[in-house]
Amino acid sequence: MLARLTELRALIRITRIRLADGRALTYYDDREPYASGTATRTLHDSRDLPADQSHPTMRRDVLTGEWVIFAPHRMDRTHLPTAARCPLCPSRRGALTEIPADDYDVVVFDNRYPSLAAAVDPVPAWLDGDPLWPQRPAVGRCEVVCFTSAHSTSFAELTPHRVATVIEAWADRTRALSAITPVSQVFCFENRGAETGVTLHHPHGQIYAYPFMPPRTERLVAQAVAHHDRTGRDLLADVLAAEWRAGVRVVHQGTSWTAYVPAAARWPVELHLLPHRAVPDLASLDSAERSELATLYPAMLRWLDEFFADQGDHGPVPYVAGWHQAPIGPGRDLVRLYLQVFSVRRAAGKLKYLAGSESGVGVWLNDTTPERIAQRLRALT
Ligand SMILES: [Zn+2]
Repeated sequence: MLARLTELRALIRITRIRLADGRALTYYDDREPYASGTATRTLHDSRDLPADQSHPTMRRDVLTGEWVIFAPHRMDRTHLPTAARCPLCPSRRGALTEIPADDYDVVVFDNRYPSLAAAVDPVPAWLDGDPLWPQRPAVGRCEVVCFTSAHSTSFAELTPHRVATVIEAWADRTRALSAITPVSQVFCFENRGAETGVTLHHPHGQIYAYPFMPPRTERLVAQAVAHHDRTGRDLLADVLAAEWRAGVRVVHQGTSWTAYVPAAARWPVELHLLPHRAVPDLASLDSAERSELATLYPAMLRWLDEFFADQGDHGPVPYVAGWHQAPIGPGRDLVRLYLQVFSVRRAAGKLKYLAGSESGVGVWLNDTTPERIAQRLRALT
């Protein structure tokens, strides 16, 4: 399957295979001899893997109305292995990994320890038979995206050519996962740094396909509906116009994208990226938008790494970068795709902890201001 995609690249080749335990893996090749199909990726996983044992469940918290997922099998997953035992590196003789090839460009595969699974056992509709406690099998998908076969690099160091391939992989998976019932939202994200809970250092991200609308998305949709009822206008279009008018929180205004610090930023370092066009998801981006993003996104991550340079800290700064895509279903036409990047670092050597107010009652306190965060980021562009 070949696709001519952006100005930044000639071709990528998409090859789909099955791993030994039946999980799906997809290669996105952007280099020769694989991109043109002159050579073919390894199609066979020769490991002896047990069948998927994961049967995650979820229960609705009667006090908040939110679903909580339970995936006890994840206790067994690989935790911060050495580079020689990294399961995301290419396979070598005597060291077979999750990717049965001696090299790759970008790959996506089903997580071996998913919180949301394709095949799940049925569970009683109510915990303890009590209608107070609804429970369900946690149906959905958890996928891993390897951005490069190079173990000791970072997303910020990828070439625009490679970033463009990652964008194609995100778009391809978003399209496929959005078509699965009962998926309600597809979330592509990267946690970087042990401080954000990373268990593998290899540059990688994840894609979660949730069977319900996550709480943050539900609140965004409610806000967008209320704004539309009140004004007849699009909430995120108005946010973009207001940020342009004020100017003080805008970090970069491009042709198709604007990066800004949100007016009520929660984190000590936080940056949002909004497309100028009202697109619901990554799959809907046109080639000009993808091309600009392929350069801009890694640049944003480099700004983050230099954020505390004036304190002698040149990174790597831990971050979470998440693509908020419009939900599939109600509210889809009232919100749009946006990227949220934030760091838990508040100063060189210091972390922001979610303490009593944030963890207990969900009220956020920020020790800086969005305007100061923007001023610092602008100095790095
Ligand atoms: Zn690795």
